[in-house]
Amino acid sequence: MNAHPQPMWPDWQAQQRAARISTADLLAELGLGEADFPAGVLAAPAFPVLAPPHFRSLIRRGDPDDPLLRQVLARGEEALPQPGRLTDPLAEADFRAAPGLLRKYRSRALLIASGACAIHCRYCFRRHSDYGATMLTRAGEAHAMAAIAADAAIDEVILSGGDPLSLADARLAALVAAIAAVPHVTTLRLHSRTLMAIPDRVTPALIDLLAGTRLAVVIVAHSNHANEISDDVAAALGRLRAIGVTLLNQSVLLAGVNDDAAIIAAHARRLFAAGMLPYYMHLTDPVAGAAHFDVDEGRARAIEAQVRGLLPGYLVPRFVREVPGQAAKTPLSALPGS
Ligand SMILES: *Cc1c(COP(=O)(O)O)cnc(C)c1O
Ligand code: SF4
Repeated sequence: MNAHPQPMWPDWQAQQRAARISTADLLAELGLGEADFPAGVLAAPAFPVLAPPHFRSLIRRGDPDDPLLRQVLARGEEALPQPGRLTDPLAEADFRAAPGLLRKYRSRALLIASGACAIHCRYCFRRHSDYGATMLTRAGEAHAMAAIAADAAIDEVILSGGDPLSLADARLAALVAAIAAVPHVTTLRLHSRTLMAIPDRVTPALIDLLAGTRLAVVIVAHSNHANEISDDVAAALGRLRAIGVTLLNQSVLLAGVNDDAAIIAAHARRLFAAGMLPYYMHLTDPVAGAAHFDVDEGRARAIEAQVRGLLPGYLVPRFVREVPGQAAKTPLSALPGS
């Protein structure tokens, strides 16, 4: 399903540059105007709108409630005072093991490999991150690698961000080589939303890079709705599958996007058809500016129970919330109140 024809782009970087768009231009492209939204709903955002052309092509024209549009459109609600909501909801500042390195879980280390993303998701829990201070710099890389090399409990290194696929291939190749040089690391994981935002990012050079490492490669993509899995996305996933990459998907449970069992089931089936298994369904973190996406735990539990009735067990994502200080993500069923 590629809803609207697109121009040919010279490369993925050109698509990345074309992702910057004003709210007015985004709406005009979709045949919408401010009058299609209740007064005060739209706003000039502090977190700029970023939506690559491929992603925009999948938004239904003329539908102000489109689930993909809702993920990228800046709303006035983002600026409302939100008592009790945080700019660092997961207390990541407490888990910084070295500059650019997060160590929350025993066997996995996470590198903030890039401060940039292909797309800006309005619900993002890292939207307030000062990446200048937290991300992995070239200078900090040696410290981070030394910390990983010094701890034999770490067998998996996760590249996250931002989005690690916003890095140029040469930089990514250097990082992967540094990780592969640590003997006790067996697995490389990439957390990326770029696959859905700019599927052309899966270039032959990226395929060669991932096919060439001794590490087992896992990609946890991030999509929230079946409409994001276009034919182009499925083709990009197919190229990764062909070299033996394990493909998983995580979603965030978002009001007005996917807070419905039938929508989640349709997404899971579409993922499976494209070679990917659902992994996590995250409940939103209490980040300032995104309260309008929250689904409360009671409703989330009801949705999870319905999803179990609709899908084979292997297509049911694990509903979790991240509780700072826990040894792993916490299943919804283990949270108080269940
Ligand atoms: C989520 C997360 C991981 C990965 O956890 P899994 O349960 O293995 O997917 C690792 N490190 C950090 C800091 C995380 O937030
Ligand atoms: S791609 Fe990921 S890190 Fe970037 S804005 Fe979206 S959710 Fe946040």
